[in-house]
Amino acid sequence: MAPAGRKKVLHKIADIIERDALALTVLGVRDNGTEINMALKAEAGSAAGTFRYYAEAIDKVYGEIAPTDPSVLGLVHREAVGVVGAIVPWNFPLMIGAWKLAPALAAGNSVVLKPAETASLSLLRLAEICTEAGLPDGVLNVVTGYGHETGAALALSMDVDVLVFTGSGMTGRRLLEYSAQSNLKRVYLELGGKSPNIVFADAPDLDQAAKVSAMGIFRNSGQVCVAGSRLLVERSIHDEFVDRMAHHAKALKVGDPLDLGSQIGAVNSDRQLAGNLGFVDDAVRDGAQIALGGSRILESTGGYYMEPTIVTGVDPSHKLAQQEVFGPVLAVMPFDTEDQALRIANGTDYGLAAGVWTSNLSRAHRMIRGLQAGVVHVNTYGGPDNTVPLGGVKQSGNGHDKSMHALDKYTDLKTAWIQL
Ligand code: ADP
Repeated sequence: MAPAGRKKVLHKIADIIERDALALTVLGVRDNGTEINMALKAEAGSAAGTFRYYAEAIDKVYGEIAPTDPSVLGLVHREAVGVVGAIVPWNFPLMIGAWKLAPALAAGNSVVLKPAETASLSLLRLAEICTEAGLPDGVLNVVTGYGHETGAALALSMDVDVLVFTGSGMTGRRLLEYSAQSNLKRVYLELGGKSPNIVFADAPDLDQAAKVSAMGIFRNSGQVCVAGSRLLVERSIHDEFVDRMAHHAKALKVGDPLDLGSQIGAVNSDRQLAGNLGFVDDAVRDGAQIALGGSRILESTGGYYMEPTIVTGVDPSHKLAQQEVFGPVLAVMPFDTEDQALRIANGTDYGLAAGVWTSNLSRAHRMIRGLQAGVVHVNTYGGPDNTVPLGGVKQSGNGHDKSMHALDKYTDLKTAWIQL
């Protein structure tokens, strides 16, 4: 299909997502437990925006003519890669699904998409929406199932040219092995993080910093890849800042994900909940203190709810400072100097996101340069939109979702060298 035709279909998909936004969101929330208040914007709203972004982008991407000797013509074509396999997680299935699907379809590929086993419904519904929007049969295929079965089959397929993934580091490693065992398909990984959120004493508004930082870790029960799960606070304001954050975190209403009044919904599964609680127990055993929360709540409802949890006295070497929880558990560490903050911040295997709170412009730029992360937030946490890339360094992955850069994953360059 010509780019203008693809553009029309992608806009139509966005139109229908917007038309059905509430139904789609409810379906997704019943599946994964995310608070509906946020999911409306972060899932359906975000997915519609992503389809529109790539709909508008795709007829503005050109090939190149190389600056060669006049006796030849060097053309650089940008072609679709063929079949894209996409394996996505359960925390934001529609948003992350759209990050992969929209640019892949815009670039003219076919896609086989595997949702997570605990959150397949909204992506199955998205497939119906794509059909209604006029996407030809076979161009998008959604296959459900367990990772070690359906996911592995997709990753081992000789017919998949590019595999894109968001999920855990352990699965990411497996996918690289599957690629090596099969057709050397290119593999792009967006993995976990242990993102440092660094608060200097000269932050412009400490209370605002505390409030935004609380949402930066506790939203969606901490089940966010870029969650600011390590709080590094300058020692002179450590106690005051932890108190402020605890105050804001305590005020967050945890409850029924379908209740518009809930600010935090449920943890995705019993396995996740048990893992979260295990991290808290281990931290206490390592000598850390619980400043807030630490327990399962609302157990009588049968739901997997957990209190926003703040753990202080965490040493950078502790398990809680090094490993991703993917739950509502914040590890707090004091620091004395900018250099020390950078050393602690960069001292994990991960490099996905970071936050810096300061009113010193030079310091902000020094930190941006020094931090090993794919995105650095300054005086805020969260919120980057489709116009900017998202990707990790170190063991947080490779390649980028969002922005025009995402198209690089879904296109190949081909040179034509023509003697005139
Ligand atoms: P989490 O631990 O957060 O559930 P996973 O990496 O296990 O993260 O899951 C992310 C996605 O990867 C899901 O769609 C899951 O089914 C899939 N997956 C898990 N294991 C494998 C595997 N061995 N091969 C391919 N896909 C997998």
